Amino acid sequence: MNPSKSIKMEEITKRKRLILFPIPLEGHMNPMLKLADLLYSKGFSITIIHTQLNSPNPSLHPHFTFRSIPDGLSESEASPKDIVLLFYLFNTKCVQPFKECLSSLLSEEPEVACLISDAIFHFTQSVAESFKLPRFVFETGSMTGYAVFSHFSLLREKGYLPVTQDSQPGKVVTELPPLRIKDLPVIPKGDPEKFFEICVLIASKIAASDGVIFNTFKDLEEQGMAILQKQYPDLPVFPIGPFHDYEEASSTSNQSCISWLNTRAPKSVIYVSFGTIAAITKAQFLEIAWGLSNSNQPFLWVVRPGLVHGSDWLELLPNRFLENLNGRGHIVKWAPQKEVLSHPSVGGFWTHNGWNSTLESVCAGVPMICFPCFGDQMVLARYVSKVWKIGLQYENEIERGEIEATIRKLMEEKEGEEIRDRSLKLMEKANVCCKPGGSSSQCLDALVKHILSYE
Ligand code: UDP
Repeated sequence: MNPSKSIKMEEITKRKRLILFPIPLEGHMNPMLKLADLLYSKGFSITIIHTQLNSPNPSLHPHFTFRSIPDGLSESEASPKDIVLLFYLFNTKCVQPFKECLSSLLSEEPEVACLISDAIFHFTQSVAESFKLPRFVFETGSMTGYAVFSHFSLLREKGYLPVTQDSQPGKVVTELPPLRIKDLPVIPKGDPEKFFEICVLIASKIAASDGVIFNTFKDLEEQGMAILQKQYPDLPVFPIGPFHDYEEASSTSNQSCISWLNTRAPKSVIYVSFGTIAAITKAQFLEIAWGLSNSNQPFLWVVRPGLVHGSDWLELLPNRFLENLNGRGHIVKWAPQKEVLSHPSVGGFWTHNGWNSTLESVCAGVPMICFPCFGDQMVLARYVSKVWKIGLQYENEIERGEIEATIRKLMEEKEGEEIRDRSLKLMEKANVCCKPGGSSSQCLDALVKHILSYE
């Protein structure tokens, strides 16, 4: 880049403030703060408006200004058990406090360039319009997943949605191949009609926005991007990820994981984690435990308190389960996932295919076993196994014999080797896109220019 041009750009951005509004859930807050860091590095000043629920720690981000708003959620409402209800409450209870906060910020600070809100906060589109403030959307999920959500009305018109007992699960959705009816996003709990409504609303407010930012990169999501551009030819789209390259080590880092991994052979460990929200039954938990044990493969398993319905933590495991494995299995409540995935001993990731986990696995070149639970995880599992071909999808009921066979296929057999080779090739592409001249780096510069074009 021409240095004089770069100085000029920084001089302009320095005077400009961006207001960011994250959803207070781990998989949304962390990438939004990372996006804030990236934009700060381009010279913008940053204000984060956040709910009282799960508020970020300002001392970890001394360069940002933080403004808290009351979210009015009771303790039971704030639980992510019914995620659709939670999203609905965010979009009703936060409206007034957000408006007041934004109004006071705009009166104090004349140089606000735009609002960047999480896609879930769809109400912010009309608020931004009322203040004549440009609104960009940060979609924390994948572009491919979003492309599916944005087709929800069409999918209902064509009879694919709602998915009922009469639907043919294996039938391909002709409009969005290779997805089948069973790959369409569903929710584990709550009202499917409300899920449909909120997805349609979010998609329509993204379409009305000034642009949408994704934590992804072009080479990975060519298909998703093509679908989106066909549907919204005028909507500016900025794939500027993967963000986590810029991240510092987590303060909750669990060194026991790394010490244990250090004792294992290269590429021998299967890492198992289903993220921060997904839950399983007691019976599934036991099948997983026996499947891992019988696979004879070393495993690192994150059992989050709350992962198993009706259980505190490991009390369901048979007596001396871990002792009998002689150190071959290690179970933790939380793992420093990115460090784990980049550890040389890790050879596979059994994941629920949350977008962050999927992207982290792609960036570490670790092949996946896909066990999607809800939302766009089914879409991602299908893409991982059939489009990018960097994983195996676990399709059936959770059962120990099948788990054992799937782990062996990934870790020991020829098919697994081919999947591993493709994963490593994709990792190489992920590693160059954020470097100067790479596709994400170019899109980030385009985003900065676009924000400044509203002056
Ligand atoms: N995570 C982690 N350690 C754990 C479990 C999860 O660091 O033990 C992180 C993981 O690296 C990812 C995020 O939590 O960045 C989970 O986000 P994802 O989108 O994969 O799933 P969600 O929790 O939103 O379903």
